[in-house]
Amino acid sequence: MSGKPIRELKGVGTALELKLTRLGILTLQDLLFHLPLRYQDRTHIRPMASLQPGDEGVVEGEVRLVDVVTGRRRSLLCRLQDGTGQLTLRFFHFSAGQKNALKPGVRMRAFGEVRPGSAGLEMIHPEYQLLASSQTPPLPEQALTPVYPLTEGLTQPRLRNLIGQALEQLSQAELPDFLPTELRRSSALPELNQALRYLHHPPPEADQQALLEGRHPAQRRLALEELLAHHLSLIRVRQRIQHQGSWSLPPAMDLQQAFLQRLPFALTAAQQRVIAEIAQDLSTDVPMLRLVQGDVGSGKTLVAALAAVQAIAAGYQAAIMAPTEILAEQHFLAFSQWFEPLGIQVAWLAGKVKGKQRSQQLESISLGTAALVVGTHALFQDEVKFARLALVVIDEQHRFGVHQRLSLREKGRDGIRVPHQLIMTATPIPRTLTMSAYADLDCSVIDELPPGRTPVNTRVISDTRRDEVVARVREACAQGRQAYWVCTLIDESEALECQAAEVTAEQLSLQLPELRIGLVHGRMKAAEKAAVMVAFKAAELDLLVATTVIEVGVDVPNASLMIIENPERLGLAQLHQLRGRVGRGSIESFCVLMYHAPLSRQGRERLQVMRETTDGFRIAEKDLELRGPGEVLGTRQTGMMQFRIADLERDADLLPQVKILAANLSDRPQVTDALILRWMGSSETYAQV
Ligand code: ADP
Ligand code: MG
Repeated sequence: MSGKPIRELKGVGTALELKLTRLGILTLQDLLFHLPLRYQDRTHIRPMASLQPGDEGVVEGEVRLVDVVTGRRRSLLCRLQDGTGQLTLRFFHFSAGQKNALKPGVRMRAFGEVRPGSAGLEMIHPEYQLLASSQTPPLPEQALTPVYPLTEGLTQPRLRNLIGQALEQLSQAELPDFLPTELRRSSALPELNQALRYLHHPPPEADQQALLEGRHPAQRRLALEELLAHHLSLIRVRQRIQHQGSWSLPPAMDLQQAFLQRLPFALTAAQQRVIAEIAQDLSTDVPMLRLVQGDVGSGKTLVAALAAVQAIAAGYQAAIMAPTEILAEQHFLAFSQWFEPLGIQVAWLAGKVKGKQRSQQLESISLGTAALVVGTHALFQDEVKFARLALVVIDEQHRFGVHQRLSLREKGRDGIRVPHQLIMTATPIPRTLTMSAYADLDCSVIDELPPGRTPVNTRVISDTRRDEVVARVREACAQGRQAYWVCTLIDESEALECQAAEVTAEQLSLQLPELRIGLVHGRMKAAEKAAVMVAFKAAELDLLVATTVIEVGVDVPNASLMIIENPERLGLAQLHQLRGRVGRGSIESFCVLMYHAPLSRQGRERLQVMRETTDGFRIAEKDLELRGPGEVLGTRQTGMMQFRIADLERDADLLPQVKILAANLSDRPQVTDALILRWMGSSETYAQV
């Protein structure tokens, strides 16, 4: 029954089918996995005297009084009594017929939420039913009533009916349960079909609190399976890619030597180790799929450069993609400086590269005269054709979604071969998350910073001491240093954040007339932003007022002071990224976290972590603990990991189990197929690969 289309159900025509598709429901199985958000209890009649504001329930009683009042809003009031107490039903919209039917003496049953009203407790617009005095009242529901997520034009009764039909079919032909019986027994998780029935129609005594929080064994049973399916699908993606083959790129001793000799410093041991791991991957004809995690300032760019050298020495092209124009341009400048003396041409492509310049760049990419191509997601566009792309480097991966990651790989496809792929991220990802979010990638960690960095001193100061902070900026700039002033405003609109930065820049110009002050924010044109950044880099500006757009990768070693306003609004990982903009040179650097009092306990705890450590991994672990994985991975923006039932934070304890289960299924491809189809069948991300 699992794959049966919903069209086969009674009452499903094209219009309804379309609505269900909007909810991701295409098959009967999808319907069964569309779980209630919460439940209503209509299993018994509540004595009116027992009702508390906020309760939701069924009452039954006799109408004592009906009245239309014309206060602030005209409404129909109907007073009910049941022998234990009384309750008022209130209707703002009502017909004459409705009003006439509600006569004193009539018995009725109503269901709704109880709220405090002007004269005792009320139910506003309850569902109700009149009971003829001769009729024996129908029994209340046997099970809790599910309340499902809906879409426009679909009602609860309609969806309940469809899911009811699907459950009936389930009793004819059960879904296969792929989890080992052993495991279910040892972890006290119910069987699949049992779990589904339970969740759609829990018995009256069910633990509603656990259900609401998603911690009920029946929900955990499904979450475990979903996480497993997700994990298997990533491993499947990996296997498919590795099947396709790539170009074997032998280590390029000579060119690497020439490159390294020109650097003013030596590689750190961690850089050397990661470079060796990559060199090994590239030398085989199995496509590399590697994630490099390295804290802010750990020197990932050089690691990418050496990987590119290996591809270029073998006669191929390498592409490096950065998430913003500022970063892409910075990379372009760095790579040009490094590569051009070695006779390697570097091309550059971003939205702002236009006209003749653009066609020139495109030509050098398609002819292969440019061996290295640096750009933004402009590299994805159809007009971009590579001559022989063998390596794709994606910088700051958390800014890109899985789709983009896959599509750049497609760019370099040549028959059955695909380019090697290197993904770099400065967001340190706790191990458990790496396992599930990046199960398709091998991982390298640059766990060492270049020597000679002085750790950033972090101070936590209330914004009531703003004047002192401003004085500090004046002093630092008077000594020839540069400073950042970061304005934050999350959850509200970007426009507001930009406005805040504009206002701050104006205020600071008044307070610090002797300083050259620049401004960057997300609403500015890319070219304007880049011009300001370039000026700041060239020390033509003393102070840069910015929104969080400067977060990633920008490198200005002379900047040694950063003020972050309202740091309590940001995640720790983001604060860490921001703070990484200073402490890049040999001068002692400072970061001032200027919070707005009062701080919550959690807020204080978080800023404390920032003060105590500059270790990105510790900060990430703490962030995960305090804020959950969506924030840590930045998936809110990219929509990368969407689960129907599982929640990575809540269900994190299931992940080790998932890994073991996946390993045990490695020789059972049919089961793997069925699980992936069941949970992500309609997800295009996986269908595309
Ligand atoms: P991130 O890992 O944050 O991308 P970058 O690659 O931008 O870091 O490197 C930060 C700075 O450190 C750059 O100025 C770079 O030239 C410098 N750097 C990289 N590796 C070393 C090293 N081994 N020794 C000294 N400085 C280095
Ligand atoms: Mg970087």
